[in-house]
Amino acid sequence: MIALNAEVEQRIRVEGEKAYPNECCGFLLGPPPSAHSGEKRIDGIAAVENAWEPGEQYHRFVITPEDFMHAEKEALKQNREILGIYHSHPDHPARPSDYDREQAMPYYSYIIVAVEKAKAHEVTSWNLTADRDHFLEEEVTVWQ
Ligand SMILES: [Zn+2]
Repeated sequence: MIALNAEVEQRIRVEGEKAYPNECCGFLLGPPPSAHSGEKRIDGIAAVENAWEPGEQYHRFVITPEDFMHAEKEALKQNREILGIYHSHPDHPARPSDYDREQAMPYYSYIIVAVEKAKAHEVTSWNLTADRDHFLEEEVTVWQ
């Protein structure tokens, strides 16, 4: 289960709309999940540049290792962790692609926002199984 601060949910939508017709991407940040419930509470995002070649950004995103390291350092300074990654699907459903699965790692949550004709729609979240075979959808809740 993943819980988004309402402001975070809104920012992810806006990032998706801004990047349209390309994919946006960035990190989901929050305190370390409680060992008890395992629930992730996302209270911030760090938008990063889609580093994929410009002509293909409408259906691909990639985050550079440098951006990853930088985000991790910044999160640590704020006693937060990178708990997942968000990206947008311009004119495609909020379902992970085969490419998304190949790039994903277990543990992280993968939020996808569907953006149709520059307007953000459904927001979903996904966890990769430990054997990296497939994604399982996880429930998204929003808190104020
Ligand atoms: Zn995708």
